Amino acid sequence: MAVALSKLASLALGMSCLFIAACKGSHHHHSGGTAEFLAHSAVMVESGSVKILFDPIFDKDYGSFQLVAQETQALMMSGQAPFDGVDAVFVSHAHGDHFAANLMIEYLLVNPEVKLFVPQQALSKLEEDTRWDAVLAARTHSDLIALNASLEDVFDLGGESVAVTRLRLPHAGGARQAKVENIVYRVSLSPDATVMHLGDADPDENGLKAQAPLFSKKISDMAFVPVWFVGAASELSVNSLLNAEHVIAVHVPKNIPESLVTSGTDYFSVPGERREIGTE
Ligand SMILES: [Zn+2]
Repeated sequence: MAVALSKLASLALGMSCLFIAACKGSHHHHSGGTAEFLAHSAVMVESGSVKILFDPIFDKDYGSFQLVAQETQALMMSGQAPFDGVDAVFVSHAHGDHFAANLMIEYLLVNPEVKLFVPQQALSKLEEDTRWDAVLAARTHSDLIALNASLEDVFDLGGESVAVTRLRLPHAGGARQAKVENIVYRVSLSPDATVMHLGDADPDENGLKAQAPLFSKKISDMAFVPVWFVGAASELSVNSLLNAEHVIAVHVPKNIPESLVTSGTDYFSVPGERREIGTE
């Protein structure tokens, strides 16, 4: 229900904003920021002076997923608008449809202000590259986090104190993927824009319920969940489990499942599509 309502709300807002140049000044609602879909699990989020990217740099589509369009990737890699002023990049895990070490290093070298958050398995791949050095390492946060454990810190991003919670949840796929370090990020870009990105987290309801104390500490205005979360939660909605106002499914295959279309859950499938965050 919550999902369906918020989807309607975001559609309505999207339409009203078509003809209003500056939606932020609108009397009808207050926007905490925007989320823009790049492809697959890649999302750009902006609020106030803070701009971040989730899982933006990857080069494997495994035959079924969308890559970031070449022109878009070129703008991102060179830090040109709309990718100028990016403060941080968050990588959920070191799979090829979420992360490419060689491209990431290229990106960091061209964009010296960007901080990087990665799991240790991604750091290991970065360290294999001959261009990796102490300067890049100093910009990188790669703390080891035990399975189902979390870290809560505040970082200076875009001149703001940004609360970042890192939670390691199991990667979906059971035993075969058990060793993959998958990091869920909850980032408060501003008081009006807290977003959560779940990477390829397992949708196991008991595992999510066990994290209720962490989720309940802070409501997420928007949560980006892998598409297999849709319909996976039986008793409670995904919104309730994650304490999220608006859930958007990502990691959507090129052939969009009919069950997703009819689910009522919001999803990202068209690169460039945007949602307003925290609208009232
Ligand atoms: Zn994965």
